[in-house]
Amino acid sequence: MSAVLGHDETYRRFHRQMASGRLHHAWLLYGPEGIGKRMLARSLAADYLCRKNSQGNGVDDIKAACGVCHDCRMMAAGSHPDFLLIEREFDEKNKRLKRDVHIGQVRNLLGFLSLSGAESARRVALIGEAGRMNTQTANAMLKGLEEPAAGSLLLLVCEDALLLPATVRSRCLLQYLSPLPEAVMRKLLSEMQVSEQAMPLALRLSDGQPGRVMALTDVDVAEALLSWHGLFAAPESFDVGKVQQWIVRHVAHVPHGLIVDTLLDALKPAFMAQSDTLCAEFSSPDAAIPAMQCFDAALDAARNLAAWPAEVRRRTLRPTPTLLAHILSLRIALRDIKKAA
Ligand SMILES: [Zn+2]
Repeated sequence: MSAVLGHDETYRRFHRQMASGRLHHAWLLYGPEGIGKRMLARSLAADYLCRKNSQGNGVDDIKAACGVCHDCRMMAAGSHPDFLLIEREFDEKNKRLKRDVHIGQVRNLLGFLSLSGAESARRVALIGEAGRMNTQTANAMLKGLEEPAAGSLLLLVCEDALLLPATVRSRCLLQYLSPLPEAVMRKLLSEMQVSEQAMPLALRLSDGQPGRVMALTDVDVAEALLSWHGLFAAPESFDVGKVQQWIVRHVAHVPHGLIVDTLLDALKPAFMAQSDTLCAEFSSPDAAIPAMQCFDAALDAARNLAAWPAEVRRRTLRPTPTLLAHILSLRIALRDIKKAA
């Protein structure tokens, strides 16, 4: 799968600078979750470290990583001595990722960047979740950004650039990466082996962010979600027994976020139809007010449903009964609008 697909502008900008010999020493790639920011950063790092570029004959020779030189092979194997990836560490005690990138990791990174490369004069450090640096860590990082060593390149990746202090942002070249357009998404999803049958659902759920629908590459997950979607063809009168059976059978292996997104996708036409009815009734406000209240209640129920994955995690609830309860209150709310309208 091409890491550059959909991010051509950033790729060209990086390559233009590399070719001119004036590559900015720190790049901040930011944009929504699941659009391949980290994959792109890795790919740019590989281009920079590829022997053909690091020891090439200059301007016209700059190309994408060749994939066959010693550097490219080490990058692919995750063992290039001049590439350092920093991510949040795993907390063995609490069995989850630590909250922040800690200061020791950043100090380590600055030490790494200050040395001359082992394979060439070049070194690249990549911070996968730059927004997870606290103030102290970001300040330590600043020092490294002020005095870049020759040949060093720092790639920062985060969703929201505003999570970083202005002092850090101002030293970086900011590059926004946007969700991918539909044609690119379709190509990527086919490359990811998403079936034609699951493609329309995958396109809608991804919203231009391939990372959101990665699980649909698993045929079992894709089939389960299609059947889940089908259960809500009649949103106000679905079969509760079948819904419960589905949840019991699939809740452990289908990502919770996708269960909710698929359900909301199935209910969307019902919501749209109700809001059209409400708009038509605005000519007689007396009738519209109760229907409006019911509509608000339905929106609340939908919001609770959307918060279900986080709720289950945070409060260690049993997922099946909680989900079923949310679905039933949404159905009641949808029925009430119909009655009121
Ligand atoms: Zn190469």
